[in-house]
Amino acid sequence: MAEFDKKALYSISYGVYVVTSYYEGRLNGQIANAVIQVTAEPPKVAIALNKSNLTHSFIEKSRVFAVSVLDAATTLEFIGLFGFKSGREVDKLSQVKYKIGVTGAPVVLENAISYIEAKVEKEMDVGTHTIFVGEVVGGGVLKEGEALTYAEYHRRKGRAPKAAPTYRPEEQKAKKMGRYVCGICGWIYDPEVGDPQGNIPPGVPFEKLPDDWTCPVCNASKDQFSPEK
Ligand code: FE
Repeated sequence: MAEFDKKALYSISYGVYVVTSYYEGRLNGQIANAVIQVTAEPPKVAIALNKSNLTHSFIEKSRVFAVSVLDAATTLEFIGLFGFKSGREVDKLSQVKYKIGVTGAPVVLENAISYIEAKVEKEMDVGTHTIFVGEVVGGGVLKEGEALTYAEYHRRKGRAPKAAPTYRPEEQKAKKMGRYVCGICGWIYDPEVGDPQGNIPPGVPFEKLPDDWTCPVCNASKDQFSPEK
């Protein structure tokens, strides 16, 4: 491979989408950033998916997919469900609002501003990924809003949720406790905030978290975390 500055690639802009499909009664979806409209008449879209993903194998067999365009306000936890967990281990769709669309593939409605449904027309093997080109056969606008961009998602990932202003002494103490970063997904455990999803109240230092506690975004275990630098 030729030597070049890989940062040149970082300036390409993308969105954040949930791509879904189904096979033999099973539904699945995953986060994808590469979704583009490639023709207008008739409308066609292209998506690039990693071959190791379950959604990829569902699309290969069912030849259909749906794309939900995520709202700029989508939480990291929601993205984590589709982005850092495998459909081989979790039934992702059972945890969100969706409908079965015209192709039979599920369409994620939660946190989506619009959706597109497509039938695969062509696919191209590009190494680690496959590019699927689909003719658009359905879709709709769900609500007004702005689409989440990949750049904004990355900015947010590097930031822990803000703590509510408070004067409780245990939280004052928490200010001196260190934050820990998940080595898998980048989520930050902030003792000032705790982990509401995991029933960890504010004020619990990382070291005092239960041994079976896991990252709320990607399910990584405690030993995958390291102190924030
Ligand atoms: Fe994580």
